[in-house]
Amino acid sequence: MAAEVLAAGGVRVDLFDAMPSVGRKFLLAGKGGLNLTHSEALDGFLGRYGARRVAVEALLQSFGPQALRAWAQGLGVGTFVGSSGRVFPSDLKAAPLLRAWLHRLRVAGVRFHMRHRWTGWREGAAAVGEAPQTLRFDTPHGEIDASADAVVLALGGGSWARLGSDGAWAPWLMAKGVDVAPLQPSNCGFEVARVGADVGAEVGANISADGTLQPGWTEYFRSRFAGHPMKTVALAMQAPDGRALSQAGEFVITQWGVEGSLVYALSAPVRDVIARDGHATVHIDLQPGRTAEFVRDEVARPRGSRSLATHLKSRLGLDGVKAALLHELLAREVIADAQRLAVAIKALPLTLIAARPIDEAISTAGGVRFEALDEGLMLRELPGVFCAGEMLDWAAPTGGYLLTACFASGEAAGAGALRRLAGCQH
Ligand SMILES: Cc1cc2nc3c(=O)[nH]c(=O)nc-3n(C[C@H](O)[C@H](O)[C@H](O)COP(=O)(O)OP(=O)(O)OC[C@H]3O[C@@H](n4cnc5c(N)ncnc54)[C@H](O)[C@@H]3O)c2cc1C
Repeated sequence: MAAEVLAAGGVRVDLFDAMPSVGRKFLLAGKGGLNLTHSEALDGFLGRYGARRVAVEALLQSFGPQALRAWAQGLGVGTFVGSSGRVFPSDLKAAPLLRAWLHRLRVAGVRFHMRHRWTGWREGAAAVGEAPQTLRFDTPHGEIDASADAVVLALGGGSWARLGSDGAWAPWLMAKGVDVAPLQPSNCGFEVARVGADVGAEVGANISADGTLQPGWTEYFRSRFAGHPMKTVALAMQAPDGRALSQAGEFVITQWGVEGSLVYALSAPVRDVIARDGHATVHIDLQPGRTAEFVRDEVARPRGSRSLATHLKSRLGLDGVKAALLHELLAREVIADAQRLAVAIKALPLTLIAARPIDEAISTAGGVRFEALDEGLMLRELPGVFCAGEMLDWAAPTGGYLLTACFASGEAAGAGALRRLAGCQH
């Protein structure tokens, strides 16, 4: 986006990327149906950026969700609003959009330099902040230098390193005095604590007797249910600031725990509570459309000679992975007590003990703090160097909020660089 704005402003743009081709994570995002942005009203939309709402709002004012949809349309790719309010390209794919975009950039004169890994500035040349700056790149043909009057860094976060974004830039910028919040997994899966009969857990006390948390599902549950979706359920938890959070949606049982959009939505508070307490408990509502009283009455109905499994299936439609999860997470005496079982069906405690590694995360929290940037996204410590995208310190749930903020910040950094070049003597 920065390249597009700069080229449209008549600037010669050289675009360097460490990978053999650009936009690899963008293409990967397209595999699940590229969720470009979201259709919800701006106030709700901005709320998704939490503590960074004000900073992101400034960016979205010039390039918000509507502008993004219009931009895609301008590249010949229409968009539609899905039933969840999420916005997708009409064919759900990223490749046609990327292809059309790259064509436009090439026509505008942007020169692409692939397999050029930026490694910092050439010391001894003009100091950073003085134009032209000399950048160093590792290439298949050895190290090269390149000079520029302005530099936009859009190096991504720290997940899926094999697609190019490895977060290696963070210490390099910190060494120049730039304030960078540590990169952390965001929109990530979590490992669960082992509970169930083998560690004698109780509802609300699913930590083993000696206080240690064993990781993972029981072998029985893991081998049968890893990969199974939990839909539609709700997750509730207490945020670190004491607020009660609750959201309905879907998640997936994995080999080591849980992942998927509903888990991602709570990943920031879960991560913070784990950092504070060593573990975080979320409560799963297996019957979000039904009241606690209804569930209690249905569970308490006489079941005659029918098994509990048949009873729960016929009265509440609870079977498969949901029924198995009750057995996985509850002690036998809780299952046997209709009242306690009914409570657990509406609030099944699941203990999460660790985020999955950052490389597996959909996105990364942390990065260059907005306080380190001016309103044009130029680094205060390094005049002439701008930053955009996921490498900035904002985070948001999935739903199109990630790409929207990346596009908007790219546009803002390009515009900021253009303004600086317009005032530049070179
Ligand atoms: C599986 C998956 C699905 C996703 N789906 C969605 C979705 O549907 N909707 C949504 O909004 N978001 C989605 N995201 C998130 C979204 O893709 C990212 O937030 C976005 O791509 C980040 O854009 P970026 O340009 O900041 O960084 P990146 O896309 O990571 O690009 C950074 C670029 O910088 C290059 N680079 C890094 N370091 C160097 C260096 N030293 N020298 C040269 N080049 C370097 C990399 O090679 C890379 O090309 C998804 C992410 C994943 C992993």
